Amino acid sequence: MFQIDLQRLILWLCLLSVVVALGNALYASYLVQREVLLRNTLEANRMYASKLAQVTNNLLLDAQHLLSYSTESLDGQLVAGPRLEAEADRLQQQSQHFDSVVFMRFDGMVLATSPSSIGLAGKLLESDVSRYIRKLQLPYISEPFKGSTGRWLISLSYPIFDDDDRYLGAVIGSIYLHERNVLSRLLGQHYYRDGSHLFVVDGKGIVLYHPDRRRIGLPAGNDTIIRSAMSGQEGDGQLRGADGVDMLAGYAWVNTANWGVVAQRPTATTLARLDELLWVTVRNALPLLLLLLPGIWWMSKLIAQPLRRLASIARKMDDGTSAEEIKQVPSWYFEAHQLKRALQAGLDSVHRIMQGLRRENATDPLTGLTNRRGLTTVLREYLHNDSRYAVLALDIDHFKQVNDTHGHDVGDTLLVHLAGILQQNSREADLACRSGGEEFVMVLLHATLAEAQVAAQRLHDQLRLQPNPIGQPITISIGIAHYPETTSRPEDLLKQADLALYAAKRGGRNRTCLAEPDNKDLPADRPEA
Ligand code: GH3
Ligand code: MG
Ligand code: MG
Repeated sequence: MFQIDLQRLILWLCLLSVVVALGNALYASYLVQREVLLRNTLEANRMYASKLAQVTNNLLLDAQHLLSYSTESLDGQLVAGPRLEAEADRLQQQSQHFDSVVFMRFDGMVLATSPSSIGLAGKLLESDVSRYIRKLQLPYISEPFKGSTGRWLISLSYPIFDDDDRYLGAVIGSIYLHERNVLSRLLGQHYYRDGSHLFVVDGKGIVLYHPDRRRIGLPAGNDTIIRSAMSGQEGDGQLRGADGVDMLAGYAWVNTANWGVVAQRPTATTLARLDELLWVTVRNALPLLLLLLPGIWWMSKLIAQPLRRLASIARKMDDGTSAEEIKQVPSWYFEAHQLKRALQAGLDSVHRIMQGLRRENATDPLTGLTNRRGLTTVLREYLHNDSRYAVLALDIDHFKQVNDTHGHDVGDTLLVHLAGILQQNSREADLACRSGGEEFVMVLLHATLAEAQVAAQRLHDQLRLQPNPIGQPITISIGIAHYPETTSRPEDLLKQADLALYAAKRGGRNRTCLAEPDNKDLPADRPEA
């Protein structure tokens, strides 16, 4: 089964967290920046509309003041003639507020105009607006209307009275909406970019000023924002422009004339900066993130390393250096420390068992090896151990003859001689036993089957080569059983080894035989379970 190692696990977990956290932070910052951009633009447009409404208001007051001043200069008389014409010219040319100026008598007769080219002098004004002006007899600012010359215009008028307060007529200053006029000079000089623009509507929603002149004189549309702007309010909000484009608008009211000023900017243009802002955010976050990655890698290594080393030590506790190695593992966090202590305790207990065996009179007095009882105890302990191990059963060939030829005592010294060889060939974790008479058992902890075979061969060799008490070479037969190579049941090992030993005897002695594996379907060299 695939198993990911701890270091990689930590690494991936951290990376995942970093990516998720970064994504989340970016998303949150996106929302905040979006909100800030929208809010700021709305606010800016509202301020702008408010400012321009104020300026427009001042302009209208100014224009009315000019008309009022002009009526005062007439000294209570309204008579056609050069003086009136001069006054009309002065009013039109000096102030630049009006595209045309007309002095109208109470009956609608035009007494003087400037410029004279409009061709109204001496004619009767019959339009609704002129009638209304005569009827109202008060200062008045008209709605946009189509004049007799076919132009769209608005008119500002001021009544003229004689010294007895009799109504004489009015002075009318007109502003031509489609031409370059005082309004377009005032509102059009502002900076437009990215589809941002400003327009002015009158109290009925007719466009008075628009950078797109084709829209002047037409209804502005029936949007809540436009309605609010017309109804004397100030504020901001989103609106859908005439061409279907979403706009962020601010609006304000021109109280003198009951006009609304709307400043707006396309929402898409405003939000176009979001990408750039996000990219800046990522760029600012990136350096720390890049520093973080090696940091995470280093920490994951630091966490995983003690566990990895402890696991590798636990796998081969047989070499005498285990205790020292465990001590050297840096266990800087709780779990590693606990594990280290548990391993140390385990090792100690194995040592204690070994010492206990010696104490329990488990020693064969003749050879000094562990006796049958000790062997049984050890094997019982190993039943609970997960590690592999090999059991070698040994028997001296034709030992009876040795006894017969050299006597029982010499036979004994030969047993001691063989015990010495067994011990020389034992590692710390191995166990050499005299299981009875001239039969011996060796237990090789953690050994593979191949290693056990090598060990057996070494015993054969050394017996052949080393001088012995009877002065002539002796041989032994060996049976090997292995957990888990030849049996999956540790309790069967000794029996299997014995059977293999008999096989070795039957096969002619002075040899090693392997136990028949329990399960013949499995290959003898299958990997450790
Ligand atoms: P093989 O094993 O090759 O079949 O022949 P063998 O002659 O060795 O036969 P077996 O293993 O059956 O013989 C065991 C002999 O070992 C019997 C006994 O005389 C002798 N023996 C058993 N215990 C001792 C002992 O403590 N000291 C001595 N000197 N001999 C012993
Ligand atoms: Mg024998
Ligand atoms: Mg025997």
